[in-house]
Amino acid sequence: MRRPKIHLPLPGPNAQRAIARSDEFISTSYTRDYPLVAERGEGCWIYDPDGNEFLDMTAGIAVCTTGHCHPQVVAAIREQAGKLVHMSGTDFFYSVQSRLAQRLGELGAVRGDHHRVYFCNSGTEANEAVIKLARYKTRRQGIVAFLGGFHGRTLGTLSATASKVVHRRGFSPLLPGVFHAPFPDPMRHGADASARALEHLDAMFARLIAPDEVAAILVEPIQGEGGYVVPPDDFLHELRRRCDTHGILLAYDEVQSGLGRTGKMFAWQHVGAEPDIVALAKGIASGLPLGAMIARAELMDWPPGSHASTFGGNPVACAAAHATLDLLLGGLVDHAHHVGEHLRRLLMPCAREHVRIAEVRGRGLMLALEIVRDRASLAPDPDARQRILQGCFERGLLLLGCGPGAVRFCPALVVSEEEASVAVEIFAEVLRSVLAKA
Ligand code: PLP
Repeated sequence: MRRPKIHLPLPGPNAQRAIARSDEFISTSYTRDYPLVAERGEGCWIYDPDGNEFLDMTAGIAVCTTGHCHPQVVAAIREQAGKLVHMSGTDFFYSVQSRLAQRLGELGAVRGDHHRVYFCNSGTEANEAVIKLARYKTRRQGIVAFLGGFHGRTLGTLSATASKVVHRRGFSPLLPGVFHAPFPDPMRHGADASARALEHLDAMFARLIAPDEVAAILVEPIQGEGGYVVPPDDFLHELRRRCDTHGILLAYDEVQSGLGRTGKMFAWQHVGAEPDIVALAKGIASGLPLGAMIARAELMDWPPGSHASTFGGNPVACAAAHATLDLLLGGLVDHAHHVGEHLRRLLMPCAREHVRIAEVRGRGLMLALEIVRDRASLAPDPDARQRILQGCFERGLLLLGCGPGAVRFCPALVVSEEEASVAVEIFAEVLRSVLAKA
C-alpha cells in the first residue's frame, strides 16, 4: 500500500524559500492553513520541492476532478495549446467552445429541452452571471440567498455570500436587494431542519421582500465552504414550489458540488428538484480556469454585449473540459459514488470513537466531519480542527477545513479505495493524538 513519504521536518529548505518569497510578494488575503509547497502532482499525490510525497484529499479545493495531471487531460491541453490558445469566444467562434456548450446542455443540468451556456473563468463569475441574468430576465431586483452560503468574492456574489464575516468585513456597501434566509441545519435540528428554515423564508417574504420582487433564489444544493451541509430531501422541492408560485428563478450554485463529485453529475439530482439555472466552475476543466452558467434557452436571450468575458470559454480550458467530461461519462461519476461510500464507511468509526466528532456528512466524495467542543453544545472547535489539519500535513496527508469546525474530504474522483483507506488511517491516528489532548 502506497503511503506518504516525509523525509524531513516541514516545511523543508526549498519549501521555506518559496514561502518566504510568497510572504514578501503575494497578497496577504490568501488563506493558507499549513505550509504546503506543491511542485508536481499526479493522481491523488502531490510532491513538494524537498522530495516529500503527500496524499491529497483536497484536489486543489475540489477542482482537480480527474486527479492531478491526468494523461488524457494533459494530452488534450497540449494538443489544443498547439492549435489555438486564445481568440476570444465572445467576439469570434471556435468549435471547441460550441461543442462543449452542446455537451454541457445535454447533461440535463436544468429544466427544459434546449439549453444555452454562458462561459466565464471562475465560480464567482458564473454566479455573477446568474444574478445578472435573473435580474435581466425578470426585471426584478431581489435575490434570496442563505446563511452559510458561499458564492464568490467579487462584489455582486459577495453580497450573496454569507459564510464567514471576514469575507464581507470592510467591503460594504454591497449589492442592495440581497436577502439571507437560514439554511437547514440537520445536525442541530434533525427532522425539523427544513421546516424551521422555510418558516424564516416565508416570514421574510411576508415582512421584508415581496416574493414577486425576487428575481432568483440562489442556493447550493449542498453547502460547500459553509461546511458540507446537506439539506433534508424536501428542502429544494419546497424552494422549487415557492419559485413556481411566485415566478422566481431557482438557481443552483453547483460550483463545488457539481460534475460528479457527489456521485451524480449534479448534486440536485439526488433529490430531483430541477433548477432553472446552474452555475459551474471548479472541477469542470480539471484545474484549468473555466466557469459556466447553464439555463434553458428561452431564459438566455439577452442581447449581444449585455454580458461577456474576454477569456471566458478559452479554447485550452474548453479542451480540458472535454477530456474531463469524457472521463466523467466514462465511469468516473459512478466511481466517485462507490469510493465515496467506502470513505464514509471508514470515517464512521472515527465519529463513534470520538465524542467530539458530531457527525460525518455529505454525499459521494464531498464528505466532512464536524469537530465540536462537546456533544451537548455542538459548538464548533476551529482550534482543534486546525491542529488536526496540521497534524495530518506533518504526516503527509492533505486535508482542508470547511464551515466553522469541519474537516472536509474532497479528493479527486479518481481516488482509489486503497488511497481512501490510507488517508483515513492517518487521519484516525491524528484524531487520537489531537482529540485526546484537547
Ligand atoms: N460557489 C461555490 C459553491 C464555491 O465553493 C466557490 C469557491 O469555493 C465559489 C462559488 C467561488 O468560486 P471561485 O473561487 O472560482 O470564484
